[in-house]
Amino acid sequence: MVKQTAGRDALTGFADEFAHLNDDILFGEVWSREDKLSLKMRSILTVTVLVSKGLIDSSFQYHMQTAKKNGVTKAEMGEILTHVAFYAGWPNAWAAFRVALEVYKDDDGKDGGMFGLGEPNDAYAQYFIGKSYLKPLTDPKETIFMANVTFEPGCRNNWHIHHADKGGGQILLCTSGRGWYQEEGKEAIELHPGDVITIPREVKHWHGAAADSWFSHIAIEVPGENTGNEWCEPVTDADYSRLNKSKY
Ligand code: MN
Repeated sequence: MVKQTAGRDALTGFADEFAHLNDDILFGEVWSREDKLSLKMRSILTVTVLVSKGLIDSSFQYHMQTAKKNGVTKAEMGEILTHVAFYAGWPNAWAAFRVALEVYKDDDGKDGGMFGLGEPNDAYAQYFIGKSYLKPLTDPKETIFMANVTFEPGCRNNWHIHHADKGGGQILLCTSGRGWYQEEGKEAIELHPGDVITIPREVKHWHGAAADSWFSHIAIEVPGENTGNEWCEPVTDADYSRLNKSKY
């Protein structure tokens, strides 16, 4: 269910019924009927209607952010506003683009987030599509090796396996942006800051950024016996672009 408090936050004591209708009915019931129409589609409709009415205020900014959160990609929003411009009016679309540019600016996480970007990950570039950066956080001569890895939008590593006879594997702590993790034969998992992925030894997998977002995770090498990485084929553009396709 969609949880909304904007009505009560703003209007308690002034228009309690409006607050109730806004939070409990519009959002709590209508927006929440995801089985009838997806949140993404509802966001597209709402943005379209607000643009056509020329309502580019703070509530429009909220709905633009919600559209992004509900899976409307940057490319799709560009196309939506271009299409809507012909029906809603050219200046309306221009005004909407100014909000969209701010919400969809894709340099969030460009700095590698709280642990920093480090240096271009040149030593492993051959096993990556796109550009990645590495910021070592610990000294492997002293302790377990941890590094912050940052992927530019669209960047991902090849399929690979963390081999070990015992122990081993890898832990990913997601620190900024939006990314993907996939094990062979399974659906990809979308990653957000705060997500933790435990990768067992001998499991073929890949990790990387979403097509329209920077992404950083701390990679922890779990100690084990006879550890070593095996790098395999790249994640094809066909497979990767399928992940970023929207679910309507
Ligand atoms: Mn890995």
